[in-house]
Amino acid sequence: MKTNDDLIDLAREALGKLGADEELFVPDSALGARSPLSGQQLFGVRQTTPDEAGEAIGRARDAFTQWRLTPAPVRGKLVKRLGELISENAETLATLVTIEAGKIRSEALGEVQEMIDVCDLAVGLSRQLYGKTMPSERPGHRLQETWHPLGVVGVISAFNFPVAVWSWNTAVALVCGDTVVWKPSELTSLCAIGCHTLLRRAARDVGAPEDVHQLVLGAREVGEIVVDDPRVALVSATGSTRMGREVGPRVAARFGRSLLELGGNNAVIMTPSADKDQAVNSIVFAAAGTAGQRCTSMRRLIVHESIADEVVAKIAAAFHTLPIGDPFESGTLVGPLVHEDAFETMQKALGRVGEIGGEVVTGGERVDTGMGGAWVRPALVRVPKQEGIMLTETFAPILYVVTYADFDEALALHNAVPQGLSSGIFTTDQTEAERYLSAEGADTGIANVNAGTSGAEIGGAFGGEKETGGGRESGSDAWRSYMRRATNTINYSGRVELAQGVNFSA
Ligand code: NAD
Repeated sequence: MKTNDDLIDLAREALGKLGADEELFVPDSALGARSPLSGQQLFGVRQTTPDEAGEAIGRARDAFTQWRLTPAPVRGKLVKRLGELISENAETLATLVTIEAGKIRSEALGEVQEMIDVCDLAVGLSRQLYGKTMPSERPGHRLQETWHPLGVVGVISAFNFPVAVWSWNTAVALVCGDTVVWKPSELTSLCAIGCHTLLRRAARDVGAPEDVHQLVLGAREVGEIVVDDPRVALVSATGSTRMGREVGPRVAARFGRSLLELGGNNAVIMTPSADKDQAVNSIVFAAAGTAGQRCTSMRRLIVHESIADEVVAKIAAAFHTLPIGDPFESGTLVGPLVHEDAFETMQKALGRVGEIGGEVVTGGERVDTGMGGAWVRPALVRVPKQEGIMLTETFAPILYVVTYADFDEALALHNAVPQGLSSGIFTTDQTEAERYLSAEGADTGIANVNAGTSGAEIGGAFGGEKETGGGRESGSDAWRSYMRRATNTINYSGRVELAQGVNFSA
């Protein structure tokens, strides 16, 4: 069991190993590094002033003029080196993730692995930023698309993936020829300082301009500077739907681009043919893992009425025995909530279960680990109907269970929420699986068969629909969001030829 002093020592040691700039740490600051393990401040972090944030954007903009002309495969060398440095420092970065986000060791290491994976993906991309050629309708003409760097990308990130979300954006943006200004969550400044330090070191190692990456630290006020600055071509913002509702229109008002990765309300449909043990194992991880603090955490189970009692009993038994405690300990599966407010929000949500005729089957109570933070046993709630509090994302481990009678009803329930991030179905019936994946099926950006809602791989595009914001990051063709497209007509006919047969000869 670690005390706050232990956590301070661990954090200082980790930052020292990474070579972080000591000047960023100050005794008194409005911005404090804190840990959900102790629920206390560790030490002060120097907050970026509005003037400094503007200057950082200016430096990123200046660096862009050079970086955009650097050949993409050469840009890839910077990301390759970054991936190597992350790999060499994986344990240290994971320590910071556990200290600030409260993730258990295995998940913290998994998050760091995700950064390494996305660097690999981006290095490959640096030789594959393909454009298309199209047949021209005019003789002696050629039509093509070219993709160009976009400009400065403002990355605003959430506390719960303090390093991976940055890397999804930054690795891809850098190979695309963009420069980055990062405004991390005010709850995870140390993770951000660690990543920024490694990226600057990678730049020095390969002779790239260090200014391609800027870090601005603080709360939403600092984020708003990034959002409103016309020099920022793309704002990639990850966080709550509330945040996206503010950021999206502000960026649009200045005709900037935004890429929004917002809240989810992720469901699993479990049909009578499902392999129950496989499903229950996956559901317990999806609902209780990361203490229910993933955007992809499972929040709703839509289960066939014929198997509901049995499944509920199995999940309740699993929730009841989940090891909850110090995330540094190897046997722990559930760490703390991010802060006391998150615990209060969870309690308020559970307090509203009665309004919809539901009952808490198990969990929801505080767990005393003696460490000072807010630990809670994941809650399992049965409701007769999907409504009220169940339609909103409560960022804590609450799993609502609702039953269905026929498959059409299950699909309707699945889609009848405002959010559209991730989902899963457990079934061995191919028709059900195919219908769930079809146009009438799940309306989420991620839809899985016999796999839970969380734990996406970086090779696919990540993101969701409706109030989740519509953005896509990471793999597949998500890189296109970080570039601008030009359509080129090349006339080698020696004549004037107008499209659509228009004749305009004088
Ligand atoms: P949050 O919305 O409170 O904060 C996210 C970031 O936005 C922080 O850096 C914050 O300082 C900044 N911010 C808040 N308001 C802003 C404003 N008006 N202008 C500019 N910046 C602003 O979210 P959180 O509590 O850190 O994270 C949890 C939420 O994030 C959950 O809703 C979760 O589902 C969501 N999330 C979504 C994804 C995804 O990919 N869809 C990934 C991770 C987290």
